[in-house]
Amino acid sequence: MSLVVVGSMAFDAIETPFGKSDKIIGGAGTFIAWCASNFTGVKQISVVGGDFPQAELDALTERGVSLEGVQIKKDEKTFFWSGRYHMDMNTRDTLVTELNVLGSFQPVVPDSYQDCEFLMLGNLAPSVQSSVIEQLTHKPKLIVMDTMNFWMDIALDDLKKTLSMVDVLMVNDSEARQLSGDYSLVRAAQKIATMGPKYIIIKKGEHGALLFHENQVFSAPALPLEEVFDPTGAGDTFAGGFIAHLAKTKDISFDNMKTAIVVGSALASFCVEKFGTERLRSLTKEEIQERIQQFVQLSSFDISLV
Ligand code: AMP
Repeated sequence: MSLVVVGSMAFDAIETPFGKSDKIIGGAGTFIAWCASNFTGVKQISVVGGDFPQAELDALTERGVSLEGVQIKKDEKTFFWSGRYHMDMNTRDTLVTELNVLGSFQPVVPDSYQDCEFLMLGNLAPSVQSSVIEQLTHKPKLIVMDTMNFWMDIALDDLKKTLSMVDVLMVNDSEARQLSGDYSLVRAAQKIATMGPKYIIIKKGEHGALLFHENQVFSAPALPLEEVFDPTGAGDTFAGGFIAHLAKTKDISFDNMKTAIVVGSALASFCVEKFGTERLRSLTKEEIQERIQQFVQLSSFDISLV
């Protein structure tokens, strides 16, 4: 039984008010895999060009990430994305999106991935996401989907189809508002629930995340950080921590999802400390434990009502 991750593997170039990166390794699938492999094995589905460094693939293999589902198109170029963050380090402009190999990506689920119990659909074309679900011979125990405004703008029908096939949707607050057409996040979650997902996670950047399920709501904080260096991949890292905790514990109760959100938030707080995947690569188990503990302390309080 396994965790299967679908997502982009990319080159990114990032500009923040405080610095600028060269072309570095990025991609939603890459961040998810680096994060999730702290907790469990990962079976990766993606596509890269001949220019993607073999050393990067080897580093993932060493961490227990299976790359059988990663296509290497020798004569083509890897997906390239470039973004510039605003002063708030929360909003950003996309400067360049060169789809390259991603433009014609047709995922193929290897036979050895058919034991998939947890499926993480990273932010990709919704038709690619649904194609993976359709190739699985058994319905996974839990399907989690990430998406973005880009797909709401250009592929809404495909997005609605994929939404109807998943259990959990994660989006940020502005995406939840766009998808539902409602400013209230509570009503937005209720409306999105009618589109398919039984659980809706709304990420609010430095203000934490909300989990909605039927009439229950859970609110997790984000760790107040002195310095945010590069927020790229924080959402994907959150997703990786969330699903990997569920996959490791094999418990998809609402209570365990609350813990999974805290795990995801803790991992995301590391991601932003350095450019790209750099911080995730050097993480130790002790650092993760300590950071999760900080989250617990951050929001636990006793009240005696009189
Ligand atoms: P996040 O900061 O969590 O939204 O994720 C950023 C990552 O998503 C970057 O590493 C990009 O390479 C990747 N990315 C950006 N746009 C797309 C897209 N249209 N399709 C797939 N991946 C993307």
